[in-house]
Amino acid sequence: MTARTDRLIQWLRDAHAMEGQAETMLKAQAGRLEHYPELKARIEQHVGETQGQAERLERCLAQLGSSTSGAKDAMGSMTAMMQGMGGALAGDEVIKGAMAGYTFEHFEISSYTVLIATARAAGEEGIAATCEEILAEEKAMADWMQQHLPAVTEEYLAREEAGEPAKR
Ligand code: MG
Ligand code: FE
Repeated sequence: MTARTDRLIQWLRDAHAMEGQAETMLKAQAGRLEHYPELKARIEQHVGETQGQAERLERCLAQLGSSTSGAKDAMGSMTAMMQGMGGALAGDEVIKGAMAGYTFEHFEISSYTVLIATARAAGEEGIAATCEEILAEEKAMADWMQQHLPAVTEEYLAREEAGEPAKR
């Protein structure tokens, strides 16, 4: 096995751990949202996509004769970030969560961009193609957040001003 393939396996495993974190985070966010139905629905859609991404990564690893590390602690720093984004204590939970989600999607975009280049460099075109598919889903989610953050913010401010529950 070449060093490139070794590295590809390691980064596929990291991505799998990242998707595990993403699923946990997205489910927690969607489960807590009460007054932002459109945001909640889009996050729930992305939970399904995220589960599919993890499965596709498992198939890529199997194709390389490997498997997931099973260790989610590879993502220690991201875990810390997401603990901050639970936001249960923040009065502006929906906003802090949306900002953190937007940031997380871009972390995923960078991860798959690296994986695609690595797969190509290792001669694994099929894996590169799978990662391109996943990348498109991450970009779509990031774009949706970019487009909807202003409306979510306006809704939050309007609810707060009206004395209506705004937090989540
Ligand atoms: Mg993902
Ligand atoms: Fe994502």
